[in-house]
Amino acid sequence: MLIILTGLPGVGKSTFAKNLARELANYKDIIILGSDLIRECFPVWKVEYEDFIKENIYMLIDNALKHYYWVIVDDTNYYNSIRRDLINIAKKHNKKYVIIYLYAPLDIILERNKERGYKVPNEVILNIYKKYDIPGKKYSWDRAFLEIDTTKKIDYKEIAKKILKEYESKNRIISKNKIENKNNKFIQIIDKELRNVMGEFIRKNRPDKKVIKEIGLLRKKYLKLAKENKDFSVIEKFKNELEKYIYNK
Ligand code: ADP
Ligand code: MG
Repeated sequence: MLIILTGLPGVGKSTFAKNLARELANYKDIIILGSDLIRECFPVWKVEYEDFIKENIYMLIDNALKHYYWVIVDDTNYYNSIRRDLINIAKKHNKKYVIIYLYAPLDIILERNKERGYKVPNEVILNIYKKYDIPGKKYSWDRAFLEIDTTKKIDYKEIAKKILKEYESKNRIISKNKIENKNNKFIQIIDKELRNVMGEFIRKNRPDKKVIKEIGLLRKKYLKLAKENKDFSVIEKFKNELEKYIYNK
């Protein structure tokens, strides 16, 4: 599962990520990854480092999903194109994703930023605010699974429950579809085989119309048996029954 957080700097993503991860850790092995991890490895910030930072955080997310960890992406993820990149990493590993949109009034965010000692300059927050793609506004795949008002009390137990439920419900649909596809394929193969056996029998033995009708019914009976028992041996059984047919005639 890939949990994609999105929201302005100072909205409370890192705080949210830590609390949610602690709750989900009761059920899953989970890791929080975000570009600050790499960014903070540089003694100074330069814009030209950003591509390297992005590339490496994607690599970490990719590898964590590959090793079956749940991942919370703790980043602003303010463009839907960034969220699409992240979703594609999840898809590559056949993992589900949820987008969690954290929001608060801009003045509260700027106030929190002031209290934090302007960890990010206010102009940067305002800039991102202007560019910000609200999740789901343009694309349905980008719709937020949850929208969290960080000025209100956050019930992490409830949120964890919702995510676990989403994880399991989607799982069930996928595996059910997979089983159905497998069954359909199996039946198609059996049907073709039974028709081949019958065709060969008719070519070799040139039975009359009445017998052709009878073995046609037999073929249907064995196809039904195959559906019920999911068993390839019906082809042999059908062949044997047709042979008995010759001797009895
Ligand atoms: P982000 O990771 O989105 O930049 P942080 O989690 O670092 O945000 O939080 C930014 C500031 O806001 C911190 O000082 C934090 O203590 C405070 N904060 C975070 N979440 C909340 C909340 N739900 N209510 C009040 N203050 C919060
Ligand atoms: Mg943060």
